[in-house]
Amino acid sequence: MPRKSTSSQPEVILRGVGGSPGLAYATVYRVSADEGPAVERLLKSNEIPREISRFKKAVRETRRQIDVIQKSLRGAVGAYDADIFDMHKMVLEDGAFFEETIRKIKQDRLNAEAVVRGVTNRYCEVLSAVEDDYLRERVADVRDVARRVIRVLAGVKHHALDGLSSKSIVVAADLSPSETATLRRDLVLGFATDMGSTTSHTAIMARALGIPAVVGLGDVTSRVVSGDRILMDGTEGVVLLHPSAASLRKSRKQARQRKTIQYGLSQLRDQPAETQDGHGVVLSANIELLEEADEVRKFGAEGVGLFRSEYLFIARQDLPTEAEQLKAYRGVVSRLAPDPVIIRTVDLGGDKFASSVKMAPEINPFLGFRAIRFCLAKPEIFKTQLRAILRASAHGKVRIMYPMISNVGEVIRANLILEECKEELRREGMPFNAKIEVGVMIEIPSAALTADVLARHVSFFSIGTNDLVQYTLAVDRVNDRVAHLYEPTHPAVLRLMKTTIEAGHAHGLWVGVCGQMAGDPLMTLLLLGLGIDELSMAPSSVPAVKEMIRSVTRVQARRLARRSLSAETAAEVLGYCRDLTARVAPEILELVK
Ligand code: PEP
Ligand code: MG
Repeated sequence: MPRKSTSSQPEVILRGVGGSPGLAYATVYRVSADEGPAVERLLKSNEIPREISRFKKAVRETRRQIDVIQKSLRGAVGAYDADIFDMHKMVLEDGAFFEETIRKIKQDRLNAEAVVRGVTNRYCEVLSAVEDDYLRERVADVRDVARRVIRVLAGVKHHALDGLSSKSIVVAADLSPSETATLRRDLVLGFATDMGSTTSHTAIMARALGIPAVVGLGDVTSRVVSGDRILMDGTEGVVLLHPSAASLRKSRKQARQRKTIQYGLSQLRDQPAETQDGHGVVLSANIELLEEADEVRKFGAEGVGLFRSEYLFIARQDLPTEAEQLKAYRGVVSRLAPDPVIIRTVDLGGDKFASSVKMAPEINPFLGFRAIRFCLAKPEIFKTQLRAILRASAHGKVRIMYPMISNVGEVIRANLILEECKEELRREGMPFNAKIEVGVMIEIPSAALTADVLARHVSFFSIGTNDLVQYTLAVDRVNDRVAHLYEPTHPAVLRLMKTTIEAGHAHGLWVGVCGQMAGDPLMTLLLLGLGIDELSMAPSSVPAVKEMIRSVTRVQARRLARRSLSAETAAEVLGYCRDLTARVAPEILELVK
């Protein structure tokens, strides 16, 4: 953190919600969503050579930008995701496109932006008319590249990723999960967005990447401009514009304190996650990216409780093959063996979309064609993934988990498809674990209320509180306007969790939580008291949660849960959680705020 403020303007406090913890102080890089039209301008004859060289320079710059994006994609989400940009480079290098643009600048005496637009339109018309599917699909690539060239010519910085060249805090109206996945970690010290909430997948991805984030700020894009200095605290969900010297001093002190606490907690790595009276809870990790597998052990998690496999499908233009998926799963599984890895089957839809899977726009995407609904409707995609997971099970302890189950019929159908895959692999002589355990996510109230029925068909439950809260309270988890109603400690949510835990235990199943609540140390004792067996969270959250478990007895936690279940409001429950935390592990409050 720099030593002093450079601004003489008054400090302004902007409040949002904490998307990903951490402090950052840097210059703003504001992302403009405005592309600007390709304005047409007639050239004088002496302007033509300059226009041609401007075009050539723009092509070189576009190529450089694509290289940068490819490189950051390779680092963030794996090599094959970056290959989609090879097609973009081929378009740029296409001699006909290049020559025709230069010829037209000379012949029509038009500026390069207008000529590129015209040449692109003609190209796309021709491509759209051909019989070949592959060529027709290239229309989108040609348009994408042309837009990029026009933006460079017009000097517009459209995407955060494109023009970023020094360490900054990115400020944007919104970032998609895939844009977040491709942020350059060496340059992006943090990000602040108008939209979003704690459990949006953008925030989840920021935590996975260790980038501090404040989301749901409402109008931060209209309050700051590129070049402003801001201080952001992703733990408290606050952004300070033109921070005062006193605020900077305070935040430096806070950073030091948090670091000391984190260091102390890191010493617990090899200690058991056990209450003072010897009751153990399994602490596992949620991972989104392959490289996070290394973080799992580093923070003391026992395996992976949720591998969000959809990130293998996002940020690429084709579907991952069975071999590609097998490579990814096997990589994680064998690195973590003998600890278990729960691979969640692909949860696309809601706020996560893949270019390879065309989904019609929906008015309520979170209530729509998402997760298991999509998989059951696309058995060929589902089977490819199940086969890859099964094959990975020959290399370590793998479990399968279905997301967004709303009725038992979905579990039965999914299990039948799984059996078909096993049969195929048997015939092909491929090794796999025939007794692979299958579980479901409990994230829809109907699943929680019929957990006793679901229990007959699976080996475990994992409660997805991010969605359970949204569906129980009818509060869109990514809508900042209703974020104040998104209350994980709402008594209705607690009752559904209790029903699930009791039904699971009555059938001999273990029950975990893999939503955001599992990684919030303020919630640990409540979940423990409710009888949860496993908590799965961002790897870096494990030490604080472990400290909470080690600070109490089971009796204390049960008492907290009993009081909470008979509370009237979410705030009351939160108050009880804070009080007990303040008594048993006060230093933890510094990390959660
Ligand atoms: C959840 O809903 O709690 C969950 C873990 O799944 P996701 O956040 O990916 O929807
Ligand atoms: Mg979910």
